Amino acid sequence: MTEIYQLTLYDLIEKIKSKEISCEEATKSYVDRAKKSQKLNCFIEETFDQALDKAKNQSDKIDTSKKLFGAPFAVKDLFCTKGIQTTASSKMLEGFKPEYESTVTSKLWDEGANLLGKLNCDEYAMGSSNETSYFGNVINPYRNDKDLVPGGSSGGSASAVAAHLTSATVGTDTGGSIRQPASFTGTVGLKPTYGRCSRWGIVAFASSLDQAGPMTKDVRDASLLMEVISGHDKKDSTSAQIEQEAFSQKLTKDIKGLKIGIPKEYKIDGMSKEIIDLWDKGIELVKSLGCEIKEISLPHTKYALPAYYIIAPAEASSNLARYDGVRYGFRAEGKDLIEMYENTRSLGFGDEVKRRILIGTYVLSSGYYDAYYLKAQKVRRLIKNDFDEAFKSVDTILTPTTPSAAFAIGENVDDPISMYLNDVLTVPVNLAGLPAISIPAGYDQNNLPLGLQLIGKSFDEQTVLNNAFAIEQSINFKPNFKDWWM
Ligand code: GLN
Repeated sequence: MTEIYQLTLYDLIEKIKSKEISCEEATKSYVDRAKKSQKLNCFIEETFDQALDKAKNQSDKIDTSKKLFGAPFAVKDLFCTKGIQTTASSKMLEGFKPEYESTVTSKLWDEGANLLGKLNCDEYAMGSSNETSYFGNVINPYRNDKDLVPGGSSGGSASAVAAHLTSATVGTDTGGSIRQPASFTGTVGLKPTYGRCSRWGIVAFASSLDQAGPMTKDVRDASLLMEVISGHDKKDSTSAQIEQEAFSQKLTKDIKGLKIGIPKEYKIDGMSKEIIDLWDKGIELVKSLGCEIKEISLPHTKYALPAYYIIAPAEASSNLARYDGVRYGFRAEGKDLIEMYENTRSLGFGDEVKRRILIGTYVLSSGYYDAYYLKAQKVRRLIKNDFDEAFKSVDTILTPTTPSAAFAIGENVDDPISMYLNDVLTVPVNLAGLPAISIPAGYDQNNLPLGLQLIGKSFDEQTVLNNAFAIEQSINFKPNFKDWWM
């Protein structure tokens, strides 16, 4: 029997609207499961009682015009939620209750979704394994003989979707934080074009790269959520003047004639045979669906990771200057103002955040600015130019999402360079501001999920979604973990 929590977001809402399932039953199904899944450590803040109350009220007032009516919905703890603790998984923000709601989350509630709680992530979204969180690591529902990371930074979100603790969620992606955890957990994650979704009310990491996006069980759910969370917002000056689109209604698996690029530079040294085989399988599949495959070149790919790890920390060091012990959350005492600042920042931030602030401050300092920051910005432009050139002859680009499957907890924590290498296939997209999706495409020899990434032209999420939908329908990926943590 299919449990309520196993339904896709789309099917769940249909059943609620046709009164086959009540809002209360839907919320209760998720709450019960989330309560039995504490071991995964997905939730930082639970609003279960509030969600159950709201669902009870919704049950006799079904509003079929609302796109997410009655959907139980937890969100990454990077989105400010009015009156509800928002921490970015940092001690620095413990106890911080925003006076405002982020634009993206307010769109969810306006469409009838129901907040279940806030989901664990890497501290200030800095990380690739969810191990930098002040609230402890998150566990992936997939495991071999060890507990595995869910990826990061939206690790709590990815595990929660995979383990059915929320009907779907929204995460943020600065360098891969939606797509990499989606790949590690067998779920779907879409990073929209920069400017497509408002950043207003999202705790800032690197403002020229951050984007909110859907994390879901399947592609149709991602298209539905995209439709809800996108659109111009005058409160975000980098938000594009493009209105919401009906992505889910235009979703089609007919992709005949689509031109798909395969970038040779993405076959990086040391990439496992399994990942290469998966990629080849994807290429054969789209060919069989009538697509034309073209080898393309993105020659500056190898500079993307170094450029990202200059630009992102530079912006972070500036964004995080606001946490001074005066305005938000945590404060440590000191004998004078300066010592209070120093103590607050020393004790409030974790090691990875401090590393980024140090790197960022260094690359922005006088004498080094031109050599590092300015140079990285120039490289960023070359990377964007590579994509512009490639998209003259193709509609989408197909690559693996990550160079490996999920790894064991603790395996990379002491080695920031190998941790940063996780992002090698995802960061170029952020630097160029493009949309990209990760969809589950198969399993490795240890039965761990692997993802394929599709990259699209600016504001062409529809083609990316259609391409992903067609692949998904053919692969018919099925989650295969047991509820071992209960
Ligand atoms: N893992 C990358 C980092 O640590 C990306 C994080 C993100 O996308 N928020 O910076």
